[in-house]
Amino acid sequence: MKFDTKEFSRRTFIKGSLAAGAALGLGTALDLSGSPFQAAKAKGESKIVHSACPRNCYDTCSILSTVEDGVLKRVEGDKANTYTRGRLCAKGFSYTRSVYSPDRIKYPMKQAKRGSGKWERISWDEAYDIIAKKILAIKKEYGNTLPICLDKYSGNFNLLNYCVEGMMSSIGHTTRATGTPCWPAGIDAQTFDFGTIWNNDPEDMVNSKYLIIWGANPSWCSVHSMHLVMEAKKRGCKIVVIDPILTQTASKADWFIQIKPSTDGALALGIAKYLLDNNMVDYGWLAANAKGYEEFFKYVREKITLDWAAEKTGVKKEIIEQLAREYGTAKPASIWIGYGMQRHTNGGQNVRSIDALAAMTGNIGKSGGGAQYAQLQTWGVKYNVMGMKAPAGTTTTKDRIININNSAQEILDANDPPIKMLWIACRSPLTQAAEPQKIKEAYDKLDLVVTADLFMNPTVQMSDIVLPVTTPFETWGLNVSYWHYWCALNEPAIEPQYEAKSDLEIAMGLSKKLNELEPGSCTFPTEGKLEDWVAAEFTPDFLKQFGLTSWDELKKGPRKAVTGLIGWQDGKFKTPSGKYEFASETAVSEGHELLPVWTEEMKTPEKYPLRLMSPHWKLSINGQFQNLDWMMDIHSEPVVEMHPETAARYHVQNGDMVKLYNEQGAITLKAKLTKVTAPDTLVVYEMWLNDKDFNVNNTLKSLPADMGKKATGAPGIAFHDNFVALAKA
Ligand code: SF4
Repeated sequence: MKFDTKEFSRRTFIKGSLAAGAALGLGTALDLSGSPFQAAKAKGESKIVHSACPRNCYDTCSILSTVEDGVLKRVEGDKANTYTRGRLCAKGFSYTRSVYSPDRIKYPMKQAKRGSGKWERISWDEAYDIIAKKILAIKKEYGNTLPICLDKYSGNFNLLNYCVEGMMSSIGHTTRATGTPCWPAGIDAQTFDFGTIWNNDPEDMVNSKYLIIWGANPSWCSVHSMHLVMEAKKRGCKIVVIDPILTQTASKADWFIQIKPSTDGALALGIAKYLLDNNMVDYGWLAANAKGYEEFFKYVREKITLDWAAEKTGVKKEIIEQLAREYGTAKPASIWIGYGMQRHTNGGQNVRSIDALAAMTGNIGKSGGGAQYAQLQTWGVKYNVMGMKAPAGTTTTKDRIININNSAQEILDANDPPIKMLWIACRSPLTQAAEPQKIKEAYDKLDLVVTADLFMNPTVQMSDIVLPVTTPFETWGLNVSYWHYWCALNEPAIEPQYEAKSDLEIAMGLSKKLNELEPGSCTFPTEGKLEDWVAAEFTPDFLKQFGLTSWDELKKGPRKAVTGLIGWQDGKFKTPSGKYEFASETAVSEGHELLPVWTEEMKTPEKYPLRLMSPHWKLSINGQFQNLDWMMDIHSEPVVEMHPETAARYHVQNGDMVKLYNEQGAITLKAKLTKVTAPDTLVVYEMWLNDKDFNVNNTLKSLPADMGKKATGAPGIAFHDNFVALAKA
């Protein structure tokens, strides 16, 4: 099916498609007119190219891109991928708008003064020259390259984008912003319990008899999984959603349980208590596979009551009992643990308590079961693009690490040596990170800020040099998912638009310039075909995992892993004991509790009585997509969702402008009265609107979540432990 854009406006298309297809993924292809910036090609040339969506989304879709006369005309989901199933989300369908957006950064540019908006077009050679001379000057002044810092990931990111790490290593030891804002507390929690993260193939979800979606909203954030959820439901699986917000996913479930934010661990412990008291524990599985369950059970028996759990969570005792009874008797039963729930000061510990339920009931290592968080099983490439050696004569021995989630303060504090230059790739700290105000202050300390990006976002505006990068349709890539088990090649569909280059081409170009100015100063290869870089990433094990004999078989289409689709099926856990660890000495060594005991949630400060949650928005992923014209057409201004009771307390009417503030900062936006959220909890979706001075993170402190350091190098951010006061604007 094709839509004629003359008869069917893009506004109508998106509205209609969201209503009909957002939950299940869109199954249609949209034909578009081209742009004034298309590459000139002979008329009549038409081809279909394999692409993949690299936008830090669960789904990592395989895409078929139709190119006519050198113009990307159409994108659609690749039916060969049984997870993508020929569908894309609204964000995916908007790709033709981002590729040909007039707002794309077209050329390398330098800015007269940061934030001035006075940009001057420069050549690539000039850009490389400015950057390379600065690198060499820093090296000369400080005797090493530690004053150069990399802040990176993760949007517009495929495995080749790891080259920016290699680029830094190739000039010497540097400073690296390490960690990730999104999911580290949950990763650590599962690392303590299981040894690493390893969810079942999500396509296996259809085999569940009972599915608890706990703190995830796949209707917006993993639309292709919603098809599997609904298929499971059709086959008789009961779908339960536990969330502080009545999400679109919750609206499709059999049962929605609204929970007070950050009390998920208390609910899990209440369920554990019921399972123990009612003999719903799989002692056979525990005896064979688990360590420390007796200590955990002793804790639960002695310390936990259902009345306490009900009081803590706001979930009635009878509801907890029913939930525990149903989960404890349905076999197999699965829990999908979302990332939002671990964005709290007790988030990791809450995840450990939920993991414990899956282990107690023997639902680990089974089709239709699991405590599903994420997987890195399919990420075993060579990382050739990262593996560069420091140049001869390097005097330092290792990189300096700073916490990506507190990078502003750490840049300000770094003195020996100070940080003088920052390279930002696949990331926009000024829209994604906490304390954007302090980030600007930190940048004031720097001599040079270089950003490689697609659009003129707030981070680019605070840079000295911007380098235009390619969209996925203009370059090579290799994509795997942290959720499903498919691997897809991304082949260039069209010529790079304007003067855009991939991060890998930029790394090679910079190396060439550095070596021209000072031979031997950079070890990164100065040339190479991108296709060869892709080929160099494949290991024999990776090929075997995907049933490939040669990497270029992927040119025929995406491939699914043939092994490892059910997490922990072999019962060989990666913990020190080789068992599932209710009692984790590793957790203790990292400064955490031995057991998944209750850890108090953050208390609401008197001065700032409203919790402000900032989940993902359906039309964006962090700072991506919402800036496009289609998205702006249907959603052009931020709103704060508040319960009518809260609104009445503050004499706020629907549509009133309100100011949300705390000691960190303030945002002013329109009130939307709705009962999807509970009283005392406000919801503002995280997004970047290119024509608005809006950033929900203006109110957000760099408050660490409880876990994340072990697996990712830095704790996550407690995004959802953000409290504000409200006043009418
Ligand atoms: S944003 Fe996610 S669901 Fe949408 S096309 Fe990309 S990978 Fe697929």
